Amino acid sequence: MSPPQPPTQPSLDGILARIRRASALRAGPPARLLAVGKTQPAEALAALHAQGQTAFGENYVQEALAKQAALAELGLEWHLIGPLQSNKAALAAAHFDWIQTLDRAKLVPLLARARPPERGPLQVLIQVNIDDEASKSGCAPEAVPELARLIAQHPALRLRGLMAIPAPDPDFDRRRAAFRCMRRLFEALGSEHGGIDTLSMGMSDDFELAIAEGATLVRIGSALFGPRGFRPRASRPA
Ligand SMILES: *Cc1c(COP(=O)(O)O)cnc(C)c1O
Repeated sequence: MSPPQPPTQPSLDGILARIRRASALRAGPPARLLAVGKTQPAEALAALHAQGQTAFGENYVQEALAKQAALAELGLEWHLIGPLQSNKAALAAAHFDWIQTLDRAKLVPLLARARPPERGPLQVLIQVNIDDEASKSGCAPEAVPELARLIAQHPALRLRGLMAIPAPDPDFDRRRAAFRCMRRLFEALGSEHGGIDTLSMGMSDDFELAIAEGATLVRIGSALFGPRGFRPRASRPA
């Protein structure tokens, strides 16, 4: 085993080029990049912003609030991509621009009620558990239409589409099949509701495959920032 290597500088251009190449091989506009900053310090996000990145995903509400405060003047777009507990819904509705993990009816009124009117509608994606029986996150595919109708009743929420985290199956054909199921659900949702334009799927090791199958937003962490959990010696807390 070689010792852990320090991450190289975030390489936004390289990832954007791969996204553009993958997007050019299919119909529709290029997929957007969501930079996933979990466990990364605010300075790493700021460095990526300096290269032009504006949309950032966070998994934990508390961790995100600290970075949002540190980076407030940058005007970043914040997406919650981690599981949302009911007792954090009000906080999340007030501090994020997008919630990608709405997966149960109970969250809908909690988010709608807590959204500050001056921030405009909260952009939401329904998270679907497409194939991962071990995961407790995400609704069943069959539950999407009902959840979508519920969301559409709340002007404080704007339904934009679907999100999924397929099981990290080493068999890429199975991942492709999961992405393809999501694409069909997404198209069905779009035929029932206006404004459906976002299919969030694909991470560092499979985003090109996800784009080929119709992803409009890819969520990338380690390929951008290097391995998670690494802290330069100087900034390690005493
Ligand atoms: C961590 C995470 C990502 C990014 O994962 P990488 O493999 O580091 O690109 C994307 N989506 C979600 C929901 C995550 O939790």
